[in-house]
Amino acid sequence: MRIDVLSIFPGMFDGVINESILKIAQREEALEFYAHDLRDWTHDLHRSVDDSPYGGGAGMVMKVEPLANAIEAITALDVRKPHIVFMAPVGKQFSQGVAAEYAGYDRLLLVCGRYEGFDERAFDWADDCLSIGDYVLAGGELPAMVVIEAVTRLLPSVLGNSMSIIEESFSADNDGLLEHPQYTRPADFRGKTVPKVLLSGNHAEIEKWRKKQSLMRTQERRPDLL
Ligand code: SAH
Repeated sequence: MRIDVLSIFPGMFDGVINESILKIAQREEALEFYAHDLRDWTHDLHRSVDDSPYGGGAGMVMKVEPLANAIEAITALDVRKPHIVFMAPVGKQFSQGVAAEYAGYDRLLLVCGRYEGFDERAFDWADDCLSIGDYVLAGGELPAMVVIEAVTRLLPSVLGNSMSIIEESFSADNDGLLEHPQYTRPADFRGKTVPKVLLSGNHAEIEKWRKKQSLMRTQERRPDLL
């Protein structure tokens, strides 16, 4: 998969993209990543990407012209047509389901806002508009990184043990529930012991216990998922 991001702070991606699973994904050639600077598509001396809002009010709005030009130019860089996604609190909510859908695309172009957000006309260049949650950040870069990591770990050949993807929280194979509690050695840490069933070696019983825990936990913490 190829992922392009468009941002006025492309350097923000350097650390995240070059560590851990995203680094491995690039090494395995499962992921190709490019961060583009929106200011490269401005023509004035100040390389301005924002202007004051029509109708007045606080803050600045991202201009449609550099966005449209940049998106068209970046799209043309590869024969694969990108699925173009604007990061915005007014978008649909990002989820494991959306991540799975995106993992099926050949190419994504994630567009990061700043200031008060985008001139509404820029959304004409979007295939999707995504929010990562009901809170407001200063820019779309962190949301884009959230999407990149959630999507990349679902790409075939990225995570060594693919079962670890299948059985986790929110996944269809886990009935959309939260994951069960997990433990590793030691079996007793300062009197805090591991549930006996997990030490029993009885796989059917363990499976039953996990299903029940998963359900109880979801009921208690996230009844909205049931
Ligand atoms: N005025 C806007 C918020 C702008 S925040 C509003 O009230 O909806 C500036 C930029 O940060 C946005 O354009 C978007 O790209 C990004 N952003 C902030 N919070 C976000 C979130 N929860 N999900 C996705 N993007 C977000």
